[in-house]
Amino acid sequence: MVHASAAVDPMEVRTLTEARARVLERIERAAVRAGRDPAAITLVAVSKTVPADRLRAAVAAGLDRLGENRVQEGEAKGPEVPGAHWELVGPLQSNKSRRALAAFDRIQTVDSVELARRLDRLVPETRPGPRYPVLLQVNVDRDPAKAGFRPDAIEGALGELLALPNLTVEGLMTVGRLTTSPADARDTFRSLHGLADRLRAMAPGLGDTLSMGMSDDFELAIEEGATLVRVGRALFGERPHQHPGQDAPHAH
Ligand SMILES: *Cc1c(COP(=O)(O)O)cnc(C)c1O
Repeated sequence: MVHASAAVDPMEVRTLTEARARVLERIERAAVRAGRDPAAITLVAVSKTVPADRLRAAVAAGLDRLGENRVQEGEAKGPEVPGAHWELVGPLQSNKSRRALAAFDRIQTVDSVELARRLDRLVPETRPGPRYPVLLQVNVDRDPAKAGFRPDAIEGALGELLALPNLTVEGLMTVGRLTTSPADARDTFRSLHGLADRLRAMAPGLGDTLSMGMSDDFELAIEEGATLVRVGRALFGERPHQHPGQDAPHAH
């Protein structure tokens, strides 16, 4: 239920409209530098910790693709923010699969065949209709602290993943490594792009979405082929301090 609190603060809408314009301009400049079409790059506004009333203003400001990294937070805000499209960008425990399908319009973080099978099985009852869109998260840097398919494991799994009848695998996603070095970040993005090209050559059913790049490095990611960037702080400002594990894996 949406109550009187559904009112949208015009000042907030203005602030977020300006923040969106600044980020879109940076996206455009990075795309042009790389000889790419800016219209081919999707902006997902990562809204973790941002309260629902600000997100209603965000939607009014044109930021209607929202990303959350926790199932529970997406579930809570979804009904409070009409008109938004929700993407899960954080890890999904398989026992929350059903809830994640109900709350999110796309899951970017499918990181195992088991999870994909489970989602596939649950789609007909939770999300009847067209195939449900997912991205495969890849642990490009083989970082033991991070989730995702290992690059050498995804090839063997891809046939089964693409054959799942109720999912559509729209592409790949990665979270850059914890680094302050732009060169390292660029390596990660370049590796994901190379992997995607190799996989698509083998399996044309794999979609061409490449989700990579956050506030600190989305321009680099675009130069390296990102088609979707996940931007939080550059739109909403710094997040309040959180417990480790709830925040961006490489926020500093
Ligand atoms: C928090 C988060 C983002 C956005 O990070 P910012 O640094 O705020 O832009 C992007 N992707 C994932 C997976 C995140 O958890």
